[in-house]
Amino acid sequence: MTCDVCGGGMTEDRVTYTIQLDDKLVVVEHVPAKVCGQCGERLYAPETVERLQNTVWGTQEPSRVLQTPVFDFAAK
Ligand SMILES: [Zn+2]
Repeated sequence: MTCDVCGGGMTEDRVTYTIQLDDKLVVVEHVPAKVCGQCGERLYAPETVERLQNTVWGTQEPSRVLQTPVFDFAAK
C-alpha cells in the first residue's frame, strides 16, 4: 500500500491521536494506523475511526489526565 499524498510506503504502526474540542485537548494513545514513512500521513481503518469517535465523544473515563502547556507561536 502506498501513500495517497506522496506515494511513499505505508507501514502498520501505533500512533497518538489528538483532537482539540473547544478548550480541551483529547489524546488517544496506541491507535493502530498505517503511517507513511515519507511524509507521516496517517490512515485509519473505518472501524478505528468509529472507535475513536466513540472514545472522544463518549462518556468513558480517561486512563489518565495530562497537564498541557500551550504556547502561541505568533505571540511576542
Ligand atoms: Zn506520504
